[in-house]
Parts: sequence; structure tokens; C-alpha cells
Amino acid sequence: MTTLQAPPPPTLDPTNPNIQTWPALGLTLITNFITPAEEQTFISAFHTSTNIPPQSSARKRLSQHFGHHFDYTTFGASTSVFTPVPDHVAAIASRLPLREGVDRVPDQFTVQYYPPGAGIPPHVDTHSMFGEALYSLSFGWGVPMVFRVAGGNEARKMRLPKRSLGGETGGGGSGSAVVEREEGEENPSWELMLPSRSLLVMTGPSRYGYTHGIKGRKTDVVDGVSVLREGRYSMTMRSVRRGEEIGCDCEYPGVCDARIREELEGKGGQ
Ligand SMILES: [Zn+2]
Repeated sequence: MTTLQAPPPPTLDPTNPNIQTWPALGLTLITNFITPAEEQTFISAFHTSTNIPPQSSARKRLSQHFGHHFDYTTFGASTSVFTPVPDHVAAIASRLPLREGVDRVPDQFTVQYYPPGAGIPPHVDTHSMFGEALYSLSFGWGVPMVFRVAGGNEARKMRLPKRSLGGETGGGGSGSAVVEREEGEENPSWELMLPSRSLLVMTGPSRYGYTHGIKGRKTDVVDGVSVLREGRYSMTMRSVRRGEEIGCDCEYPGVCDARIREELEGKGGQ
């Protein structure tokens, strides 16, 4: 049984108590990013949407896509499957914290519903097909996210033939390589509580060199008290790389899909 650690201490923004950053990790958590009224809009929109998928099991995550859907065969954005982005989603996208000259306003959105107790396996979002910054809005309920330094186990798993399973068993529900944790995994990990209505921004090491996931469990310990988990939603916002932009030169070749593809093509060449 792995003992989970508290996250490293954040840097606090002196001008805004809602902003916590971990500069060395490229990680930012902004609480109260949306209002309770906006949260309600998101929740009701999810359940009244016309593109809600059929639920095969009450315990499974449900995913809804806006913009160009993720294509599980190319690991990029689908050129044929597109769902218009609703106004309430575009409104959130327009006020994300973008680094000038680096980040673009996201154009692909995945909304997921996690029934009480549901989690998501640890995974690394595909490096080459999306802009560096990943934005994840949590609403409905707060859950802890587990971050873990990606190491040899992850690198090996990502080189197995079926490294992205997609759909319901896929890590991120879209655009992710599933990384199952093995017994004896020793890489450092810690859990970060993602409160309802918060925004998580992953860049740099937290985006490229860590897996992230949510443990499936009925209760969470919050401030020392065991709390029954309720249904949680998230909206992952990404910018799709196209044409020449596709690729990655990150510092984590072990878990980089661009490098893995090069390796496999090299081995397969005549
Ligand atoms: Zn990479």
C-alpha cells in the first residue's frame, strides 16, 4: 500500500488569495474560478446536452466533447467529428490565464462526470498533439488528484502496443496514455485537493513529466475528517496542435509520445 504525501508547499500570490502556484512544477491552482451560479449552469447543461453519451454503468465516467473531438487512431484532433462550443464553455475559455506569446485559448473541451467513488487511472496527456498548458476546471464536488513523477514503469507501459485504450477505459477520456501503476512503484507522489469551482493549470514538469489521476474511492480525508465523496465534474481544456506544430521536445523523453513514435518507427524501418 502506497502512502500518499501532502503536496509540496505552494507559493501564495500576495495580491490574490485564490491563487496557489508551484513554480518548479509549472503548476497553478486557482480556487473560486467560477461562481456557484456558473457551476449550476455547467451541471444542468451537462445533463440536458444532446451529446451526452449513453451510460453503460452507473459507476463509469461519462465524457462529453466540444470542439474537434479527440481521434483515438491518430492521437490528434478529429477532422470530421466536431461539436460546436456552447457559450458558457467559451465564456470560461476566454478568461483562462494565458502566458503571453506562449499559450492559446483552448479549442478542445472534454467535460466528464465522475459518479461518487469513481476515479481515473494515472495518465500523461499526449505531449505532441496539444499545446503545453492544460486547464482543468473542477465542479460539483472536490476530489484529490494524485501526481506522480513518471519513471521507468510509465515509460515501459507507454511502449506497449496498446498504449492508449481510449473511450471509457482511456486515461483522460481523450488524448491520454493510460499508465497503470505497478506494485513497488517508488517514484514520489502526492495528492492535491481540487476544490469544486477551482481551475488547475498544468505546464512544464507537471504537464510533461508527471502522471495525474484520481483514486477511485468512496471517501476522502479532508482536513483530517473522512468525507463521503459525491458526484464530481471536470472540464479539461486544451489547444489542438496542427500541421507543423505537432511534436514535442520536452525534457521527459521516457513518457513523450513524439519520442516514442520516433523510436518505434526507427525500429520498424527496413
Ligand atoms: Zn514530450
